[in-house]
Amino acid sequence: MGNIINGKEVSDKIRESMSAQIEEFKNKTGVVPRLEVVLVGEDPASQVYVRSKEKACAKLGMESKTHRLPESTKQEQLVDLVRTLNKDKKVHGILVQLPLPKGINATKVLDEISPEKDVDGLHPYNMGKLLKGEDPLFVSCTPQGIIELIKTTGVPIKGAEVVVVGRSNIVGKPVALLLLQQHATVTICHSRTKDLGEVTRRADILIVSVGSPQIVKGDMIKKGAVVIDVGVNRLSDKLVGDVDFESAKEVASFITPVPRGVGPMTIAMLLKNTFLAAQRGVK
Ligand code: NAP
Repeated sequence: MGNIINGKEVSDKIRESMSAQIEEFKNKTGVVPRLEVVLVGEDPASQVYVRSKEKACAKLGMESKTHRLPESTKQEQLVDLVRTLNKDKKVHGILVQLPLPKGINATKVLDEISPEKDVDGLHPYNMGKLLKGEDPLFVSCTPQGIIELIKTTGVPIKGAEVVVVGRSNIVGKPVALLLLQQHATVTICHSRTKDLGEVTRRADILIVSVGSPQIVKGDMIKKGAVVIDVGVNRLSDKLVGDVDFESAKEVASFITPVPRGVGPMTIAMLLKNTFLAAQRGVK
């Protein structure tokens, strides 16, 4: 049976190590790192994620504010809010919680966030830098968290055959680029991939970010592979990932559970990015 990668434990360690640094920064500069989150509508999962982000900020002595807006909010109102937050010197990080309601063009809103406050790393400047293999101001939180989790296994990324299932801007594409930068051989799969199992079985490191419950079964995984399950799917009685954990753990050498796998790392990286933004702001 494979080793379980405890994302909660890894993220707790990262937060602990940041705690003293933040305290010292606040004492030295009088500046409190501040994250402002924009949440539109009533999506239950988004509500939970945003509350976790607020709590995590408070625990580390960082400030946060969530702008809770009704489903009926117009795109122009969101753009105006983002522009106001861009100008506010007390705000270091801006995060627009996705998904946005139908009728709002998320790209138009995200592109308004100043690249210096883009703690989710989704602005074209930051994504473009990543594509060019240059240092972005911020790397997307979930992909950054995934890399940290892979590193805990000790399995080398350089030269590894990596398969990423899912090509979202928030996970699939940026994680593939980060791994490419670290000299992995990367294949990206998506809904039109002809024989998913045939491709996933090649992976030394398999990352799945689809949003479809337990779509990847044990027989689609190479023996000894590292499996990172990003998916969060709510079944009637529990949360499950995109990987069928029970069959996958028999073949994988390391595997992330859902929950307590990738999720806590996303939040830890958001805190890290917000602190980074605050540090840059005082330079
Ligand atoms: P997304 O935008 O929902 O897109 C899903 C991707 O999966 C698309 O690229 C799609 O292909 C692909 N796909 C759909 N059906 C497929 C199939 N049968 N075979 C292969 N690929 C298929 O993706 P996302 O935003 O990355 O989210 C994916 C999951 O991760 C969701 O459950 C989300 O809640 C979760 N998530 C978790 C965290 C965390 O911190 N734990 C963070 C972000 C996301 P096409 O492009 O062809 O449509």
